[in-house]
This record gives sequence, C-alpha cells and structure tokens, in this order.
Amino acid sequence: MVDFNLSDEQQMLVDLARSFTKAEIIPAASHHDETGEFPVEVVRKAWEAGLVNTKIPEEFGGIGLGVFESCLIAEELGYGCTGIATAIEANNLAEAPLIVAASDELKRKYLQPMTEKPLMAAYCVTEPGAGSDVAGLKTTAVRQDGQWVINGTKQWITNADKADWYFVLAKTDTGAGHRGMTGFVVPRDAPGITVGRKEKNMGQRASDTRQVVFDDVKVPADHVIGEEGKGFKVAMAAFDITRPMVAACAVGLARRCLDECIAYAKERKTFGRPISNYQAVSFMVADMAKSVEAARLLVWKSASLFDHGKRNTLNAAYAKCFAADEAMKTATDAVQVFGGYGFNTEYPVEKLMRDAKIFQIYEGTSQIQRLIMARHLFAD
Ligand SMILES: Cc1cc2nc3c(=O)[nH]c(=O)nc-3n(C[C@H](O)[C@H](O)[C@H](O)COP(=O)(O)OP(=O)(O)OC[C@H]3O[C@@H](n4cnc5c(N)ncnc54)[C@H](O)[C@@H]3O)c2cc1C
Repeated sequence: MVDFNLSDEQQMLVDLARSFTKAEIIPAASHHDETGEFPVEVVRKAWEAGLVNTKIPEEFGGIGLGVFESCLIAEELGYGCTGIATAIEANNLAEAPLIVAASDELKRKYLQPMTEKPLMAAYCVTEPGAGSDVAGLKTTAVRQDGQWVINGTKQWITNADKADWYFVLAKTDTGAGHRGMTGFVVPRDAPGITVGRKEKNMGQRASDTRQVVFDDVKVPADHVIGEEGKGFKVAMAAFDITRPMVAACAVGLARRCLDECIAYAKERKTFGRPISNYQAVSFMVADMAKSVEAARLLVWKSASLFDHGKRNTLNAAYAKCFAADEAMKTATDAVQVFGGYGFNTEYPVEKLMRDAKIFQIYEGTSQIQRLIMARHLFAD
C-alpha cells in the first residue's frame, strides 16, 4: 500500500521549516524584494536551524537527509519567499555534482566545511550563448604543467558573489560534444575569477545572480569531479536531486497564493456579497488547491524514487514542469482574484506572480522538461 502520511521525524522537519518561515522569512521577504539586498541574516539563521545543505552525507558532517525530506523543507521555505528560498537552496545545486561523483578527498575538502560554517557555493554551467543547449558551452579547461587552466564566461549564476567555491562545467575536448566535458570544483579565491554586477531580475530579487568570468584560472589536477569527459553526465545527474526540490519550492509558492486568495475572497465584498460566493472566483481557488495537491504528489514520487535508488529523471521532469507551470498559472489567477489590489505592491500576490515565472526557466525550462519526457516516451 502507498502511504501518504509523514513519519514523526518528517512532520518535525515540516514543523521546524514552517515555524522558521513564519518567524524569519515572511517578515523579511518584502524588504529583500524591494531592495534586492541579499538575505545574509536569514540564510545564516537557516544554516543554524539545520535547513541548509540538507543532502550532505553524515560521513562528511552533514545531516544526509533524503531528497524527499529536503523537498518537505523546500516547500515550506518557498511558501515564505521563493527568492530567499532560492538563495538557500542554491547550495544544494552546487553540492549535488560532488555528492554524486566527487572523490572522498574533494568531499572532505569542499562539502564538510559547509557543515561547519555558513559557507555558500554556486553551480556554474550556463553561459551567455548556452543555456538549454549545455553541449554548446564554450568554457575550456586545458591541462598544463600538472594543473587545469580554465577560461570562459558563465551567466546567471545564483549566489556567484557569495560562493566560497564553484562547480564549473568546461570542455576538455572541444571536438567531442557533450562527451568532451568535465566538471571541476574551483575555489572562489583562485586568481583570475571576476564576478559581475548583480542582475536586475523580474522576480526572486532576494536571490543574487551574476556573471562569472574565468581568465586563466588554475585548479589542481585532482579537482576534477568524477572522471574526465563525464562532466555532462555529472552536471545533469545533479538535477535528479535538485529538480524535485525546485518543484517543491514552486508548490510552496502556489500554496501561498491559495491561502492568500481564500483569506481575501472571504473578506472582499462586491454587490453586497463576499467574492468567494461567486463561482467564477471560487472555481479559480478550487483549481489552485487542485494544482497544489497534484504538484506535491509528483514531487513526492520523484523524490521518493531517487531515495529508493531508482532512476527518477523522467519523474523529476514531470514534477518540475508541472509544478512550475501550475505555480505560474496559480499566481496569475491570484492576481485576478485580488482585482486591482492584485496589481499593487501593497498586496502580496504581485510579488508571487513575478517570483513564479523563473520556475519555468531555471534548472531547465518547461520546454526542456517536455523534451526530456518526449525522449523517454519515444525511446526504444
Ligand atoms: C534567476 C536565474 C538564476 C539562474 N541560476 C543559474 C545557476 O545557478 N547556474 C546555472 O548554470 N544557470 C543558472 N540559470 C540559467 C538557466 O538555467 C537558463 O537561463 C535556462 O536553462 C535557459 O537557458 P537560456 O536562458 O540560455 O535560454 P535558451 O536556451 O536560449 O532558451 C530560450 C527559449 O527557447 C526554448 N528552447 C531552447 N531550446 C529548445 C528546444 N530544443 N526545444 C524547445 N524549446 C527550446 C527555451 O525553453 C526558452 O523558452 C539561471 C537563470 C536565471 C534567470
């Protein structure tokens, strides 16, 4: 029998993340949205509460939670503010390639310190000319005098400015397509790294995205993650862990829209009656609840498959795509339920609508998720 009940430990995690969100994220969200200031204090407190780096294995000092438990946390943080949640969750994306494929020495050197201090890391794959088409990236790594020398420009890198180290995907054989790529861990203080200005994004403004330029950056030979030529596989394998979490964060945003709309629709009166009495409004809210439930089930299944050692790439694509698209629709409808007030910054839903859009873009666009699904469905 499939059991949808959480264990006592899982429920405790939800309660912890929910109370943290209520106490620390919700009160800070509009300030960071308006100013674009990085939520340093909130991230530090989240780290102290044990809500950051949840996938680092116990043998490297972490709490080694499953993807499922990490998703429970991500939904709660996303409920409060997906910009702040992204700032917190970006560590998981940078860490995932190391968790999947790095040597124990690299794990000890780069993952363990994340559990001892509130450090940050960033995942550097996208480039100005290569986002969806990862195989088209131009950054190169060349072996020279027993080291690797990296040259190239990475674009839209979350937490680039806060990171203590980067996961970098580069071409080590320019003629071999995605089989010629290798993943590296690169310390932030390596000479030759320049981080650009903070990008002015539509939403999730608490999160920090920047360009990173690597100019003759030298890294030791043993800083390859996994094997040379296997970087594409490693970079993509990370998404099996993180796409369910990103989807969970989108579920949190949709759930917030639902709660805001229920409260507002019961209060707001037109023609002498609360707008919740009108089917045109209440059906929009009913659809929101349906989306939250369905998206959460896809998240839970994709996470649970991974935790049980099964391939979840297809299910992670279902979850990420569905949760992102439904979060966007739910947030757009939430603005509609609020009417003119929905369009105004004094009310919560315009931020939710701006924040929702990026879920359909980062960690693989909704089109790329459908491409993954189609490839699986039509595979021999
Ligand atoms: C706020 C933010 C944070 C980000 N954080 C990170 C990060 O930390 N690290 C990182 O490496 N990257 C990050 N990214 C980059 C993000 O993953 C890419 O923007 C995304 O993968 C899309 O790539 P692109 O922007 O180059 O769009 P393109 O690949 O140019 O796509 C443009 C459009 O064409 C569509 N399209 C492209 N190819 C196909 C196809 N074959 N079939 C159908 N449709 C297609 C896309 O779906 C999209 O609609 C971030 C981006 C943003 C905006």
